[in-house]
Amino acid sequence: MKCTARQFSDQKVCNRCGHCWDMNDPDPPKCKTDKQIKCERAIVARNMAMKELAWLGNTTKRRYESEKQFAHRVRKGLRDAT
Ligand SMILES: [Zn+2]
Repeated sequence: MKCTARQFSDQKVCNRCGHCWDMNDPDPPKCKTDKQIKCERAIVARNMAMKELAWLGNTTKRRYESEKQFAHRVRKGLRDAT
């Protein structure tokens, strides 16, 4: 696997796998394989989907709570009016 790393002053940065190391590093990191990168992307995508789901769940719960409170206030208002 050929690394597509580019040199920035005294550092090397690989856009493909996100690695970054010192030019003088005697043991530079090995480039990730396509399989590794695909696998990591899948994990990131899954984490994002989970976060979105959790956010949606919270929003629905909050909306439900506020509607419950609103109904309670309406009932209370009606009771006070009579
Ligand atoms: Zn690389």
